Amino acid sequence: MNRKRVALIAHDHKKKELIDWVETNKEKMQKFELYATGTTGKMIEEKLNQKVIRLLSGPIGGDQQIGALIADGKIDILIFFWDPLHPLSHDPDIKALLRIAVVWNIPMACNHATADYILNSSLLFDNYERVKPDFSEHNDRKL
Ligand code: PGA
Repeated sequence: MNRKRVALIAHDHKKKELIDWVETNKEKMQKFELYATGTTGKMIEEKLNQKVIRLLSGPIGGDQQIGALIADGKIDILIFFWDPLHPLSHDPDIKALLRIAVVWNIPMACNHATADYILNSSLLFDNYERVKPDFSEHNDRKL
């Protein structure tokens, strides 16, 4: 079974929470191939001493890069601790990322409790094949 590719993102006010979460779950993190937006990735690498594939910082395109990886089938799980209490400059990118994760039926945790559930799912280290959406009707539509 290939290692699951897990993307991690935390907004600034949620970074401590995510870093604490990855540290608590360090052993499981080592079983994954980790991807992250720039600053989140740097902090995870420092905390875990584990390689993280780092993309651009979120507000300058990192969220969109993660979204593109999801659309290309290159991310299996998204852990996205977004900030519900502060307005952010890249709100359209955040919304786009949340949307594309739903479009491609990616397991996605947007808070600590859901992240715990995903990490403790019996499906995590199983050969679970998520349902791949069928977009043929959309692609073949007559205009
Ligand atoms: P960052 O980006 O990890 O580079 O801080 C996260 C975000 O704000 O989307």
